[in-house]
Amino acid sequence: MQRIALLTSGGDSPGMNACIRAVVRKAIYHGLEVIGIKRGYNGFIEADMVPMNLGSVADIIHRGGTILHTARSEQFMTPGGRAKAFENVKRFGIQGIVVIGGDGSFRGACVFNREYGIPVIGVPGTIDNDIPGTDQTIGFDTAVNTAVEAISKIRDTATSHERTFIIEVMGRHFGYIALAAGLAGGAESILVPECPFNYDEVCERLLRGYRRGKLHSIIVVAEGTASAIEVGRMIKERTGFDTKVTILGHLQRGGMPSAADLILASRMGARAVDLLMAGETKKMVGIKAGELVAVDIESALSQARSFDHELCNLAITLSI
Ligand code: ADP
Repeated sequence: MQRIALLTSGGDSPGMNACIRAVVRKAIYHGLEVIGIKRGYNGFIEADMVPMNLGSVADIIHRGGTILHTARSEQFMTPGGRAKAFENVKRFGIQGIVVIGGDGSFRGACVFNREYGIPVIGVPGTIDNDIPGTDQTIGFDTAVNTAVEAISKIRDTATSHERTFIIEVMGRHFGYIALAAGLAGGAESILVPECPFNYDEVCERLLRGYRRGKLHSIIVVAEGTASAIEVGRMIKERTGFDTKVTILGHLQRGGMPSAADLILASRMGARAVDLLMAGETKKMVGIKAGELVAVDIESALSQARSFDHELCNLAITLSI
């Protein structure tokens, strides 16, 4: 193997740049040439590619986002789009591809591999932590830290004004950010898509706290569970408490990556190069119990991502 390519695709996450740096530097260390593909699979189709050298990844480790940019590519979803991408694989002499992204990006990589046989390795980069086959994805830790910082700032106001704050965090299908940030932020209730909730229970917890003299509360809601505005309205209607809603939105996706994400991204990026050099394909780098693992992408994605019920129960116990 002489020349590999890498791209970032789907939603961006903090730590993608550190991963790009690790892929480029590890590959160059082993004498490989690296091509950076811009704007996800779009850059593949449109030949928007740049040769990467040691200097291309200088001074990026601490920066959020991705210097290669990212995109969702409708064209790559079509056989015609992928045929164009493969033309560029041949034209640029690419012998293996590292895809940093989420499950959608991995599905695209698998389809491409099935059709054209080009080796692909996935590195999980998404704040949602929603990829089966790995305990953690690049960007999750930073997003949780961002949410916890926001919760603690909002808590100051909640305490001063004796109000109930509803804080909506990202997580359309899974509540990993809500659970981790809610637990770390000392939330009274955490509402996640994995666990059904009812307003009676949420309000009863608030009223119980109020009877004990508690004058403020924080409720963390994953966006896929219910609209935070609706939650605020329902609570006000049932308890009479003054409720305020904060939607954290995209600020959870940016910012300087945490040290944990920088280390994870560096480890995973370097391992992706090792896997390509070892002749592996259709594998995703994951982390299990602190150890890097290589898992078959298709079999990982066919499994359900497990929810941490123990952590969920702990959050309920501690917010009694
Ligand atoms: P993420 O990687 O963050 O989950 P998406 O689900 O939007 O983000 O996927 C990113 C891109 O991957 C899509 O825009 C598309 O170009 C490509 N992709 C996703 N699924 C497929 C598929 N089944 N076949 C081909 N390409 C796909």
